[in-house]
This record gives sequence, structure tokens and C-alpha cells, in this order.
Amino acid sequence: MDFSALDVIAAKRDGHELSDEMIGWTLAAYGTGEVAEEQMSALLMAIFFRGLNDRELRTWTDRMIASGERLNLRDLSRPTVDKHSTGGVGDKISLILAPLVAACGAAVPQLSGRGLGHTGGTLDKLESIPGWRAQLTLEEIREQLETVGAVICAAGASLAPVDRRLYALRDVTSTVESIPLISSSIMSKKIAEGTEALVLDVKFGRGAFIKDMETATELAHTMVRLGLEHDVKTVAKLTPMWSPLGRAVGNALEVNESVDVLHGGGPSDVRDLTIELAQAMCELVGITADPAARLDDGTAYEVYRAMIAAQGGDPDAVLSPAPLCDEVLATQSGIVHGVDALKVGVAAWRLGAGRSRKEDAVSVGAGVICLAKEGESVEKCQPLFELYADDDTHLEAGRHAIQDAVRFGDGPYAHLLSPKRDLIRE
Ligand code: URA
Repeated sequence: MDFSALDVIAAKRDGHELSDEMIGWTLAAYGTGEVAEEQMSALLMAIFFRGLNDRELRTWTDRMIASGERLNLRDLSRPTVDKHSTGGVGDKISLILAPLVAACGAAVPQLSGRGLGHTGGTLDKLESIPGWRAQLTLEEIREQLETVGAVICAAGASLAPVDRRLYALRDVTSTVESIPLISSSIMSKKIAEGTEALVLDVKFGRGAFIKDMETATELAHTMVRLGLEHDVKTVAKLTPMWSPLGRAVGNALEVNESVDVLHGGGPSDVRDLTIELAQAMCELVGITADPAARLDDGTAYEVYRAMIAAQGGDPDAVLSPAPLCDEVLATQSGIVHGVDALKVGVAAWRLGAGRSRKEDAVSVGAGVICLAKEGESVEKCQPLFELYADDDTHLEAGRHAIQDAVRFGDGPYAHLLSPKRDLIRE
């Protein structure tokens, strides 16, 4: 049945429900060009203000999935389980988690994207390893899942292709921050990827694109429901993102820190979150292994090496920071009460670790090392951050962005912002 784009836009603008047929027609007609970019922009804005009810959202997501291929990984010999994070500063968890959960006995198909703005992308981080390639064919993905158990690669253009265009349009029409649009965008790709189970790590706080816990909770529930409705066992965890995760922010710097965690060391916040997510992933697919033991006995690191090598990377390559280094010194003594994740993320981006447009290149070695974390005591003139860049212009831009990123407090630091929270299930 044919509709008119004008009628669909007006219906949503005026607060009416869109029928399944209207939604199906609109997304298909957008695919063929019959619905123009400006008409889709208007509809996105109407959805931004009016929302989508559960049925509309389910159908919208279904039609996004149907715009491309849906992989079937259910005939692998291991159960499949994936994780998706809504993105935070210093979030290198995937690099550790995928091999760790594979070491516990599952297959982890992490079909990922690149970073835009102040949060880095998993593929950008792994591309600092010489020879490593992000593009794999479907056959290569399946083979690696059988043999190694973990794949981190580019999602490819065939999964929910309409999302690429919608996401680009949302980016330039200020319609990104909408719960139905975010959930359908993320979940259409994850459902199309063919995983049996999914753990969502929904970040909130200064360094995340969702700032408050209420919105993050609503987003988490919406995505969990969408997953279950599409036969993907889904749970979500809410994680605060006020300060960077770990100490390293930047591509090669984060790979090095991930390897430290895979060796049983590294910052405790990175290790603890990785283990929590690994436990949730294992539980969803009925695996009882102990992820902490797999980190400590080196089996997760062995899977990491195999995963990197299978994609052409050299796991023994030494990844050096960028050649220019500067330190930011404390202007006072005290206890660190806050390290501003947004400022650190923007600084790493300005230093060259991130991109402003999707076609920009990123620097391998640029970024920030946070020498001081919350709760630590520092003396005046002690270094708080190390900044790395390839040239003076980037170094200066990073230095400017990180000003006043540390907040000092008078009394002892109370770890109020990250109490353990239960998983969100429906
Ligand atoms: N990530 C996505 O893939 N889509 C969104 O809408 C937001 C974050």
C-alpha cells in the first residue's frame, strides 16, 4: 500500500500513531529515494518530540533490520553472546571482554564501529596494531568464531543499512538524543548480527552521550525489551561515566592498558567492569566458568593473541605513544574528587586520537594518561596527566582542552557514584 510522506509526517507531528504499514512503507520508500532526506528529517524531528509507542518501535526496528542482511550464527558449536556499550571515555572493555568470554567457552561476535567525537571506537584502537584488519567476510567471521571464539570486526554495510543514512541524518538535524531512535539504531544492528544473547552497557554521566541516570534507565529498558521481542536474550547494566575508565585514553595507549588487564593487572575499575560484564554474558548462555580466573591464569590473553593474529595483526608489536609528550601539573595539593571524563575525552580527541568527520584519520599514539584517579592524594606540582601528540599544534589543543579537569576536595573521597547496580531485565 502506498502512502504519502506528507501524511506520515503530519500524523506523527500531530501525535497520532503510525500504522505498521505506514512505517514499513516509509522506511522502504526512504531506501529507494521516494521519501526525500528533508522529509525524513521532518519525520525524525516529529518522532523526537512525539516518540514511538512499543508497537511502533518494534515495527520501526523490524523494518530497519529488514533493510539488510540478518546473519545466522545459531549453528555454531558454541553459544553466541555479545556486548554493546553506548560509549564512554577510555572504554576499552571490548578488547578484553571478547577474548575473555571466548576463553570461558562462548563465541563472541563483536561487530563494531569507529569513534566519532570525544568517545573512541574499538576498531580505531585495534587498528593501532600493525597488520590488523577490521574488514572480514561473513565466512571469515564464522570460521574465526569456531576456531578462536572471538571476533572484533567492522559491522559492514549489509547490517541494517538504513541505519547508516538515518544516523548521519540525525547527526545533522539534532535528533540523536531520542530514546526510540537510539534504541532502534543500536538494536537493529545487534539483532541483525545474529547473536543469541546480548549484554548492554548503558553509560550515563559527563563523559557519556546520555547525561542522567533516569534517561539511561529508560533507554536500557527499551533496548532490553526490543532484544527479547526479537528472540535475543538481553540484559543491561547501567554504568556511570563521570571519570575516564582506567588511566589510558587514546588508541594505542588503550590497547596497551587492555593487555595489562589481560595479564591479570591493569586498573581495577577496568578489570572489575570487565569481569562483571563477562559474568553477565556467561550467565545468559548458561556458562558457569569464572572469568576472573581466566584473566589470572593467562587463558584470556592467549585467546586475545589468537584473535589479533587471525586478523593479520602482530600481537607482539610494541605500540609506542606519539613522540611529543607534555605533563599537566597539579596547581594544589589534595585528594582528587573528580576527573572530568568529558574534558579528558575532548583532550584526547584534540590531541589527535579522535575524528570530527567520519572520513578523518586518527593518530595511533596520541592521547592522555591519567596519572591521578579519584580518591588518590596528590602534591602540588605532581603530574596529573601525560599528554601525547604527533605535533605541537595538537599538543597545544589537548593542553587547552584538559584545563581544570581535576577537581580537588577537602575531605576524604567517598565513592558515591558507582555503587554496584543490579542488571536490568524485563
Ligand atoms: N549508537 C548507535 O549506533 N546509534 C545511536 O543512535 C546512538 C549510538
